Amino acid sequence: MSKRVVTLAHYYTTPEIQGMADKVGDSLELSLFARDAQADIIVFAGVRFMAETAKILNPQAEVILPDAGSTCSLVTQTDVNALRAWRERHTDYVHVSYINSSAEHKALSDWIVTSRNVDDIIAHLYAEGKKVIFSPDRNMGAYLNYQYGYDMPLWSAVCEVHDKFNEAALQAAFAEVEGPYSLIAHPESPLPVLKQAHYVGSTSGMLNWVKAYQGAVTAPIFVATEDGILFNMSQARPDLDLRQAPIYAGCQCNSCPYMKMNTIEAVRRAQAGEGTRIDYLSPEQMDAARLPIERMLEFSQRYYA
Ligand code: SF4
Repeated sequence: MSKRVVTLAHYYTTPEIQGMADKVGDSLELSLFARDAQADIIVFAGVRFMAETAKILNPQAEVILPDAGSTCSLVTQTDVNALRAWRERHTDYVHVSYINSSAEHKALSDWIVTSRNVDDIIAHLYAEGKKVIFSPDRNMGAYLNYQYGYDMPLWSAVCEVHDKFNEAALQAAFAEVEGPYSLIAHPESPLPVLKQAHYVGSTSGMLNWVKAYQGAVTAPIFVATEDGILFNMSQARPDLDLRQAPIYAGCQCNSCPYMKMNTIEAVRRAQAGEGTRIDYLSPEQMDAARLPIERMLEFSQRYYA
């Protein structure tokens, strides 16, 4: 009997790869889809931490990453031993970690959050009188501290793609616009960029913002996130003037090199059963990493129901 293969693609992959997928989404949407997928093989056209999350949530399935090199700077900039030591220096804190983290990192966390639910989960913890440490994304943590007046100690890793957006390049781009414009930004961007945004939110949140946009169609909308999502945005709203935020004057060219390792050939090979199998996590590691993820999923079910 042939094996049931399900292919998932993140919004940051190319349009061709998205066209090969059964489901396209952001990190949380794909994790939930993977958890519920009736599949023998899940091909995850994204990056390694996402494939690991899929395996943790659906351990029965074989999960294949098309290219072994598809990592993430938030993972490579985090030494797990140093993280453990940091965690041990903050024993009276709740450790909240962004989902963009390795399985080992998740296992050291009390809660996992995504860019969609991070605001609500941390607000909930503060409302309960808890103290919070946040890892690994320094920019996201700095934004939360700024926006809500928290004083969370932060781990210091960044997304090497979003961290390139900068205020000077943005100001130069804004200066060329006559009339109104908007900026929407992912919270992995630096704080000076986020302070200027009309909307800050997850990849799906930004897509929904664009879909619901009611302003002048001639007013440019600058988008501070990975360029892959521009394809989905312009498909949803071909009438809008959507521009990726520049990282230097005149440049609309900010791509994630790890997401783009998901080539057509690599995804085809993975669909045929070749590629990097996520088979190196022990049952104990997966159990430990699943706990803070399930805490987030239960919260989301209760809070957003
Ligand atoms: S865009 Fe940034 S956070 Fe996302 S996978 Fe690439 S390096 Fe990691």
